Amino acid sequence: MAEWLMALVLKTRVRFTRTRGSNPLPTAKMIKIIPFISSSFSSNVYLVKAKKITLIDVGVEPENLLENLKKEIALEKLALIILTHSHPDHTLALPSLLKVTKSKVAIHKQELKSLSIPKIKPDILLKGGERLNLGDFSLEVIHTPGHTPGSICLYQDGILFSGDTIFAGGNIGRTDLGGNNKDLGSSIKKLTHLNIEIVYPGHGEPIQKNAKEEILSSLQLAKECLKT
Ligand SMILES: [Zn+2]
Repeated sequence: MAEWLMALVLKTRVRFTRTRGSNPLPTAKMIKIIPFISSSFSSNVYLVKAKKITLIDVGVEPENLLENLKKEIALEKLALIILTHSHPDHTLALPSLLKVTKSKVAIHKQELKSLSIPKIKPDILLKGGERLNLGDFSLEVIHTPGHTPGSICLYQDGILFSGDTIFAGGNIGRTDLGGNNKDLGSSIKKLTHLNIEIVYPGHGEPIQKNAKEEILSSLQLAKECLKT
């Protein structure tokens, strides 16, 4: 991890806040998705309350996250943690979470090398294209390299968990921490073919309106980055 990044991680006091209201989109099965939006450098964390209770990313600091999680679920019921990529701001809290849950961990196989958490061995290595069965819900894994080689997005019923591939406001993930601009452009293009109504990104607020237009703006920005 870059030194400045570590410094930022250590200095930042992490606070997750619950966003107003869950279920912003009526999914087929009304699966409850609870976003914990980080106001700091840490990543957002999403709790998917399907039969198989799932977390998407874990952020940096576990205490506040565990506190919030306990209000929603019995921790031992957490079945799966899916990491959108290996960067520390999405994964550092993992060891603490695994101490208090029996959750399995899934990550794309191309992120293994850069997942620098000692003694953590993911249970499920993803390659993209598979569907993760959460009992009464499922998530399609879309391999979206660019921010990192093994970045993934997760998709179902018009909902996209985008990791650090795209953000609100037509923004895109940086590519200078192991990524690649050309791949990022191709990955965002792939996303424009999906029917997306809401985006839950790895940082910042969710996109709940005009998702299609916002993703097209991200694509435009990625293309401009390629020119420079
Ligand atoms: Zn990242």
